[in-house]
Amino acid sequence: MPELRKDPIIGRWVIISTERGKRPSSFSTPERKPTGGFCPLCPGNEDKTPPEVFAYRPHGSLPDTQGWSLRVVPNKFPALRIEGELDRRGEGIYDKMNGVGAHEVIIECPDHNETLSSVSVSHFEKVLLTYKSRINELYKDTRFKYVFIFRNQGEAAGASLAHPHSQLIALPVVPKRLIEELDSSREYFSYKERCIYCDIVRQEKEQNVRMISENRDFISIAPFASRFPFETWILPKRHNSSFEETSELLYTSLAEIFSEVLRKLDVSLGNPPYNFMLHTSPCNEKINDYYHWHFEIIPRLTRVAGFEWGSGFYINPTSPEDAAKFLREVSPTSVSK
Ligand code: ZN
Ligand code: ZN
Repeated sequence: MPELRKDPIIGRWVIISTERGKRPSSFSTPERKPTGGFCPLCPGNEDKTPPEVFAYRPHGSLPDTQGWSLRVVPNKFPALRIEGELDRRGEGIYDKMNGVGAHEVIIECPDHNETLSSVSVSHFEKVLLTYKSRINELYKDTRFKYVFIFRNQGEAAGASLAHPHSQLIALPVVPKRLIEELDSSREYFSYKERCIYCDIVRQEKEQNVRMISENRDFISIAPFASRFPFETWILPKRHNSSFEETSELLYTSLAEIFSEVLRKLDVSLGNPPYNFMLHTSPCNEKINDYYHWHFEIIPRLTRVAGFEWGSGFYINPTSPEDAAKFLREVSPTSVSK
């Protein structure tokens, strides 16, 4: 059973997951995986993954058979385990609990060689609706306090399989980064009676120097204090605290702007490795006035090194104003349909 341990000084939880097992020797040189080899996420290999928990497939087709257009399966090597009680306990000054959680893989499409930026906008929308549906499903389990959605594109961004996929981890605690954002937003709201993200959206639209794109319902910006070159956020224009409570009507325009941003990054930076993650309110405070859900996209162009690890400072060689100007002007590649 993996274990969650809390850093007693800064309150950060760490997952000690030895079952994903690595001996010291396996950390030394990152072995490059042969390309073109066996892929457990490709159609025809449905029996090589744990049984699916969700899929888009033709009416009447059986689970774990071919024909799907999107599939969600538990991770074969989960960082957390779905079974068991949390069993929160102390050990002297230290706090820990069992590593209970869910770890799922969203296999975004059948074609191994597509990417999320090359699938059609309507297919992208299916991926986003799947996030919504899985979050809502997992919150039926009261052990889970936060469902974290993220995507690693490319080996340098941590992807261990090339097949297009994103991941989800349901956690028994709210991640520290989210707690920090929630606390600051709550504080700003109690002082100004306005959502800080709504204020950011308003100011960025007025100033129009860090705007990348916008449509009816969303904007994309290079954030004022970008940590990384070409860091990009996508936010709903109107106040909205919960991604999974958002009306399905908005998902088409979210898919449109998200796809456009990824394609702009692909053109500008030559299909860069990237991570994106969803930041939304925790399940026990979904609807509120102060927090505003958004996606953060981080192209992996620079390495996080000693200064960043040790200090929490970031040195960003590209100003967000330059990045936004560049991305605004570049025309995105077209999608398949
Ligand atoms: Zn594949
Ligand atoms: Zn807001």
